[in-house]
Amino acid sequence: MLSITNIGLVQNELAIVWSDGGESYIPIERLRRACPCASCQGEPDATGRVVRPKVTYTSQSFFLRSYEPIGGYALLVRFEDGHATGIYPFNYLRELSERPSFEEQ
Ligand SMILES: [Zn+2]
Repeated sequence: MLSITNIGLVQNELAIVWSDGGESYIPIERLRRACPCASCQGEPDATGRVVRPKVTYTSQSFFLRSYEPIGGYALLVRFEDGHATGIYPFNYLRELSERPSFEEQ
C-alpha cells in the first residue's frame, strides 16, 4: 500500500516521496482547485446529479498552512485562507501530480 516517505514544501509546490520510490510535485494552486471536499466539488442532489458549487478564492487560497496524514491513506491539507476540509487520498495526490495539463477552471 502506498504511503509517504517524505513530504515538504518546495517553492510553493508540495513535494512528496512515496514508499515505492516515486516522487510527486504538486503546485499548491492545483492542489486547491482540485480540493475534493463537498464545498469545492459539490455533492449529488436527490436525483444524483452533482452540481458544482461556485468557489471563490482569495490571494491566501493558494498557499499552504499545514498538512497532516489521516488514517494512513490520505492527507489533510489546510490552506492559508483557513480552508481545511480537503482530505486527499494518496492515490489522488499522485494522479494530480501526473496530470500534464490539469484543467484549471
Ligand atoms: Zn475544499
